[in-house]
Amino acid sequence: MTLYGIGGIPGCARGTAVIKPARTITVVRRSTEDPEAECARLSRAREAAVAHAEACYESALAEIGEDSAKIFRAYREILSDDAFFSVVEERVRAEGVCIDSVLEEEKQNIAAVFAQQDDPYLRERGTDIENVCNELLAALYGGEEPFTLPEGDSLVVFADDLTPTDTLKLDKARLAGFVTERGGATSHTAILAKTLGIPAILGLEGVLGQVSGGETALLYGEEGRLILSPDGEALAQFRADRERHARRGARLAAAALAPALAPDGRTVHICSNLGEADSAQAFDGAICDGVGLLRTEFLYMRCEHYPTEEEQFSFYRDMALATGEKALIIRTLDIGGDKQAPYMDLPCEDNPFLGCRAIRLCLERRDVFQTQLRAILRATPFGNVKIMFPMIVTLEELLEAKAVLAQAMDELEAEGTPFRREVEVGIMVETPAAAVLSDVLARHADFFSIGANDLIQYTTATDRMNQRLQYLYTSSNLSVLRLIRVVCKNAHAAGIPVGICGEAACEIPLLPLWLAFGVDELSMAPSQIGLVKHHIAALSGEDLRRAAEALDGAGVIADLRAVLAPLSEKGL
Ligand code: PEP
Ligand code: MG
Repeated sequence: MTLYGIGGIPGCARGTAVIKPARTITVVRRSTEDPEAECARLSRAREAAVAHAEACYESALAEIGEDSAKIFRAYREILSDDAFFSVVEERVRAEGVCIDSVLEEEKQNIAAVFAQQDDPYLRERGTDIENVCNELLAALYGGEEPFTLPEGDSLVVFADDLTPTDTLKLDKARLAGFVTERGGATSHTAILAKTLGIPAILGLEGVLGQVSGGETALLYGEEGRLILSPDGEALAQFRADRERHARRGARLAAAALAPALAPDGRTVHICSNLGEADSAQAFDGAICDGVGLLRTEFLYMRCEHYPTEEEQFSFYRDMALATGEKALIIRTLDIGGDKQAPYMDLPCEDNPFLGCRAIRLCLERRDVFQTQLRAILRATPFGNVKIMFPMIVTLEELLEAKAVLAQAMDELEAEGTPFRREVEVGIMVETPAAAVLSDVLARHADFFSIGANDLIQYTTATDRMNQRLQYLYTSSNLSVLRLIRVVCKNAHAAGIPVGICGEAACEIPLLPLWLAFGVDELSMAPSQIGLVKHHIAALSGEDLRRAAEALDGAGVIADLRAVLAPLSEKGL
């Protein structure tokens, strides 16, 4: 029997099915003569749960690191949220009923609100609150037996849901994988499983009705595919798939963890491009040196109104907490072109990519820009936040944007709101105008990040969305590459770092050129990091010299490709 879930943690697993029993607590609504004693029970349970969350944090920190351990800090924050628990206590006093029934009801109310959210990140936060309430209820009932694995090795656990606490406590040496009916790819259990390298399938509704326990289960995490009681053919196929998967995965995963060293021994920062609602969860500090591009426009695009300062602040702060000491480059709003938010009511333009987009729009709509800058500045004390302006063409624009930023800083200072004034401010170099003026711009920016996607479009005068012109829209365009070389030279002459954050950053054939230009940072989709690091490790100094010479000598792109192609096959 083959079943599919909505998401999975990559990896193949084969094991014996084990079913985690459902929660045994049944909450009964009882009246009470002494509401204060009920409230005191809750306070004691909260105190004990805070201590437990802290202990889980410490053990997770030692076992799997800060990124995954911080879910227990989040639990502690929920437990310390007086606003939620005072509603529960007020109801106990007003209705004269026991604390557990009110807590159960309020838990269900809040779960229903979060379950309706479109944003998967918010839905998962609802699950966190549910988990915390369930742990409190278990404590109020004198504690539930924790789930432990039965005898045997290679076990696949089937559960309605697994909390991060459950997952942390399971004996990983005997756990081959797990399957849950609830939860999605952004749940903290999923994040923990990813960190621990446990293959899993989440959101496989109805699976508990199909599995009886004791049968063999084959789990393909990446596809979210489960096979129960496989026949001989499925078993043979599984063995072959697992070997292939293991070989490639091990190579790339090991490569992703290592620093990227250029042949001269210099470390090239490899960063992640993020921006979706689940970015704080998606960030994996073990494989990268930070976030090189946080696209903030997705936040504006998934809202039905301008995101408020508070909404933005909480997104940026969560990101800053997730990235910690590693750099978090927050790009200010880059809307317009192919990215629209209906409530902004942007006028129709004949050439939107040449129109009022990105920094142009922000300088026109100062209130929108100010709100965003205030929110970003407020996030600066929580991590290593940097600010980046997109689509800069002239120095005037950069100076104006910095003036608006200075004004936002003055406002926050006057209000006594904390922020870091010395926050680094950089620009995207994604117009030929900025590339040509990069020697001047470099004196006014703390860093450059080359937006190759737009730089190709504007240099080659090719709409990046136009399928017919894709033969012109190429990162191997010689003029684009020469411009990138100039930008790197000018950045370094001014003593500032330069990165590439467009898709070309992870184009394998171009890596020898990026290293030859001395690029300090490459930022890309996290899924590409292992592959890029793997290829960087295979390059020699001689390869870089040959690539740079080929660019000098090439008149047509084919001349350059003839030299780059064999280099990209090295290490395969
Ligand atoms: C770019 O232009 O290269 C870039 C990273 O920005 P976006 O793709 O968001 O325009
Ligand atoms: Mg761009």
